[in-house]
Amino acid sequence: MDFPVDNRVGQVYEPFKVRFLQRQITGLAGDEVLIKVRASAICGSDLHIARGLHPSAPLPVTIGHEFSGDVAAVGADVRRVRVGQRVCVEPCIVCGECDACRRGEYGHCEHISFTYRIGNGAMADYVVVKQPYVYELPAGMDYAVGALMEPLSVATHAVRQADVRLGDTVLVVGPGPIGLMTAAMCRRAGASRVIVAGRSAGRLDIARQMGATDTVDGSAADPVEEAMCLTGGKGVDKSFECVGKESCLVQALAALRACGLCTVVGIYEKSPVQLPVTQLVSRELRLQGAQGYCWDFPVAIDAAGDLPLEKLITHTFPMEQLQQALDTALDRNSGSLKVVLKA
Ligand SMILES: [Zn+2]
Ligand SMILES: [Zn+2]
Repeated sequence: MDFPVDNRVGQVYEPFKVRFLQRQITGLAGDEVLIKVRASAICGSDLHIARGLHPSAPLPVTIGHEFSGDVAAVGADVRRVRVGQRVCVEPCIVCGECDACRRGEYGHCEHISFTYRIGNGAMADYVVVKQPYVYELPAGMDYAVGALMEPLSVATHAVRQADVRLGDTVLVVGPGPIGLMTAAMCRRAGASRVIVAGRSAGRLDIARQMGATDTVDGSAADPVEEAMCLTGGKGVDKSFECVGKESCLVQALAALRACGLCTVVGIYEKSPVQLPVTQLVSRELRLQGAQGYCWDFPVAIDAAGDLPLEKLITHTFPMEQLQQALDTALDRNSGSLKVVLKA
């Protein structure tokens, strides 16, 4: 690969509008890897950015953090990654030196950043990242599914934080991509019953294909009553709130058995919320959050082969059509789950 390399990087420059910046990559530092992007997926957080409402990523900002591609060049000190490898990338950047990093909890690094926030978005021809964040894709995994290793790592993190075990009963509220992947991972972790509640018949159908044992259409039935019924009146061992709404969190708590655990994964545009705290105390319920990932990529990549992740990819566009792709992802009537840009 000869430097400089011409690159285009997609940027949201004002609400709902993207453009490509022309950039040149002049060379690589010793520990850097140049990746030719092959697939790059739009994430829910990209939609917050597109609306200009992301609290940590003000406009203008480059986008794209769920991606896969081919290694095109490596820096002089790179040993573990080879040119030509098919890879995906963990898109955070951590310091390795703060207290959180030294405890191994790098997801809470005091200096955490993300590649796209520093101008290195993956709605691009090329991305430069450091070697430790690069993971090889298994043989036979296509690039579009490879791009989903990032959201699958988010779901993996939530399921590991909840310590889902063999025989557990689980309720997942919210059949968006993260909720569906959470349900699939719970089943793979050994949960005997995974109930997914939502309001879209199409998404609930995909939930069953991804391993949910039962689904509840929240527009026709009460998810709490259904969860109680399906667990012989006891309630579920674990629940996940994957929407980011007060009413969904109240449901996720109410469906628990005594001493059950609710894990909140959804992003709340409105916070704080009101909760029935007496219920929490008297039934000794537990409530926790889960965000991002920490040592979860290898687990997610290993599990991915057993999961029909391609069912989540509802739309694909060539990279040139980034604006149309974003419009589709933003359009509630498009029926989109994952929209993937291909190059
Ligand atoms: Zn994401
Ligand atoms: Zn740190």
